[in-house]
Amino acid sequence: MGDYAYRKCDGQEIKIGTCGVNYYLTFDQWVNGEVWGKDARLMNKNLERQSFRLPIEEEKDILPGDFDFHGFDGADPVRVFFRKEYVDEGNRDYRYTPFVKEIRKYCFENKGQLAMTKKLGKYRFGDFEEGTGIYAYAPCYHGFVADKDEFKGKNFGYNGFNPHVLCITSVGFSSTMEAVATVSCYACEKHICMVGVDEMYQFRPLTSNYEQDFWNTVNLLHRMNRWAVETGRKRQEV
Ligand SMILES: [Zn+2]
Repeated sequence: MGDYAYRKCDGQEIKIGTCGVNYYLTFDQWVNGEVWGKDARLMNKNLERQSFRLPIEEEKDILPGDFDFHGFDGADPVRVFFRKEYVDEGNRDYRYTPFVKEIRKYCFENKGQLAMTKKLGKYRFGDFEEGTGIYAYAPCYHGFVADKDEFKGKNFGYNGFNPHVLCITSVGFSSTMEAVATVSCYACEKHICMVGVDEMYQFRPLTSNYEQDFWNTVNLLHRMNRWAVETGRKRQEV
């Protein structure tokens, strides 16, 4: 199963993704006509169900279909953190800005799972039986701490607020043809929500390693929005 296309530069048939998740194709490669074929053409009709590979600087010379798969939505994710200057007036704690509260809500609605294993090596029949051990799943709230009610003494969870596990894994269009980025969890790889370009400014790259790819993604979202208006796919807001 998968979505396939032909590459313009050498005519080779390549895999571009699966079920509208274009792991091996960036938006620019698609919009510049670097691939053709039925699946590439069909994208025009289902753009709001497609996502594209992140514009990673190190990958800028890689041809469609030739990208490595790093899990998530194909590319290495761009890890993000909340900007601290977005603070409510009179409340100096960035944890409670409306944006953080909204993301927290999405994190709880889209709980993930973390597998935790521990082999104990039980001594049996004169040797250690390596297969013996503990296997447990913990709910993943993607860095947020669950309320006490959520636990009631029967669950595992994070011991403190630390949403450094949030990351951006792909770009695409919403149902209203707004350019959006997919926010996912670095720990469990679950998709959490989509954010528009304005909301991207409420994040910052987690470390300087992500600086360039973060701003490449922000700039791409701006270009995708302009493209959607210029090609008549989105009505210009007045
Ligand atoms: Zn998670």
